Amino acid sequence: MAVCDRCGKRAVWRDTESGEALCGEHFSAWYEHLVAETVCRYGMIPAGSRVAVGLSGGKDSTVLLSVLVKLYPDTEFVAVTVDEGIADYRDETIRAAETLVKRLGVEHRILSFADVCGKTLDELLAAAPERACSVCGTLRRRALNLAAREAEADRIATGHCMDDEAQSVLMNYLRGDITRVAENYKTNAGDLFIPRIKPLCRCTERATVAYGMVNHLLTSLPECPYTRYALRAGVRSELGLLEYTYPGTMLAIVEGQEELLAKLGPAVGEVRRMGVCERCGEPTENRLCAACTLLAKLEERG
Ligand SMILES: [Zn+2]
Ligand SMILES: [Zn+2]
Repeated sequence: MAVCDRCGKRAVWRDTESGEALCGEHFSAWYEHLVAETVCRYGMIPAGSRVAVGLSGGKDSTVLLSVLVKLYPDTEFVAVTVDEGIADYRDETIRAAETLVKRLGVEHRILSFADVCGKTLDELLAAAPERACSVCGTLRRRALNLAAREAEADRIATGHCMDDEAQSVLMNYLRGDITRVAENYKTNAGDLFIPRIKPLCRCTERATVAYGMVNHLLTSLPECPYTRYALRAGVRSELGLLEYTYPGTMLAIVEGQEELLAKLGPAVGEVRRMGVCERCGEPTENRLCAACTLLAKLEERG
């Protein structure tokens, strides 16, 4: 039986890079410290913040909300759940989200795609299921921004972990989307656009799931039926394999991207002025925002 290198109790975790074995208690402390360090390093939660936490009810966001509430007892949190309208999937995760907020004593808001654009994701995608993740992502960003603004939050925290970040970097390359790769500016849209923070961006998904299990936060939930259409699914499994064989690959990708952006120089810290969308009034750099552009395209397709 493997034992904890720090206390000798039964180990539940072995770090792939350092080889250190940890018991549930010491692993949890290690994970929470990693989150606190990330929040501090990027100045994510200044004193007196009111933070909206995107809570899908899935693994990552469940761990995110639980850890933030534990680490920052003096900060106000409001959980925001976006109901995309995905049959046989969303209802269960919403119930999981409701159980969690009740236990943590956190304010909870639920906003549906139908509230935001009059249709459910299933209705929007009837003609184009292969576009699920980009449509969903764009509309969810808008819904989160709206809900956070209504909740008078000054930050939106999302549960993106290091795997998500590394996948996104690779996906931009795989699509040849060098504009995105080199996207490096701060936007200024006044009070309309609520800044995003990703407190789990230095935690692997493996560690995040382990934390959820050790702390009895996770129940088994269905997987989103649209994932199989996504490029991300392929990148996720390939990258997972690489990380397993060569531990530290994901961290190298994420840190490499940060270094690239720092080296790009003059654009760093450039503030781009945003205007508002002609159709919906949400912040955008163009005439129409990303969500309205997408909805218009889907309408054309019928
Ligand atoms: Zn221990
Ligand atoms: Zn718009």
